[in-house]
Amino acid sequence: MQGRRKKDVDARDKRGHDGGKSDLTTSEPTLIQPNYQEVHGARPDVPKGAAPKALPPNWRIKAAVPSIAVEALAAQAYRLRMEQEVVNAAGAECERCGKAVALCVCDTIVPLDNRIEVLILQHPQEQDRALGTARLTVRHFRHAVLKVGLSWPSLTKILGRPADPQRWAILYLGSAKAAALAPDREVVMLNRKGEPERNQDALLRDIEGVVLLDGNWSQAKALWWRNAWMLKCRRVILGPPRPSRYGQLRREPRRDGLSTIEAAAMLVSRLEGRPDIEAALTASFEKMLARYRASK
Ligand SMILES: [Zn+2]
Repeated sequence: MQGRRKKDVDARDKRGHDGGKSDLTTSEPTLIQPNYQEVHGARPDVPKGAAPKALPPNWRIKAAVPSIAVEALAAQAYRLRMEQEVVNAAGAECERCGKAVALCVCDTIVPLDNRIEVLILQHPQEQDRALGTARLTVRHFRHAVLKVGLSWPSLTKILGRPADPQRWAILYLGSAKAAALAPDREVVMLNRKGEPERNQDALLRDIEGVVLLDGNWSQAKALWWRNAWMLKCRRVILGPPRPSRYGQLRREPRRDGLSTIEAAAMLVSRLEGRPDIEAALTASFEKMLARYRASK
């Protein structure tokens, strides 16, 4: 504080400001400058010899904006809470996983510190609240994002930071079967012709995130065709060693037959070499299915 005041005075002296008047002109603005600077960064230049009343006309108006913004945010939070309470009263749903409280298994989940980021894009009509697993999957990871929608202009826009689609792998929908292409691999990266890439290990090591499409077969296909940036992503398919734990409960959403949580578990655990990731996600999926069967 002392340093800044001294610097202000020095600057004024350099501009040839009158020493006698500076007591009056510097002391008043200095009292309110910290507030202004905290909010706006640089302060407007105080005109030479100006008394406080001659400050730029927007000085106080601008300073008032943040408090309005804060009030608006608070109002929004209040409204959201109200809406949530209405939902809870009607269907008693968990706020985190979106499931009926009787089916919720997310309360004891401790998010894993994943290196490979997870992005799940959910078709807006994917309405399976009882058996859907997208929100549960995201809850398991510290670095995971779920977006509901049909199209986004780019990966960078979705994530809100620069991202290279070449270093992201999308779980591909094509008809290729991992078992036929590379029987010894559980994750296979394909080129655009649908053939396995030659340097699998190096390319897989380079991956920093995975994209999963959540919805039934035709919903996932719609997402694929509406998002041109997905063409730039690496394509991977899975060769699961066992069928989905869904069993007969749900028609399989993808050709590899896995639920979103099983696919994410397998993909991330293989890419990171961390079996504990798959174990944790599989355990909570099985718990969810057990609750579902018990509720029927
Ligand atoms: Zn929950």
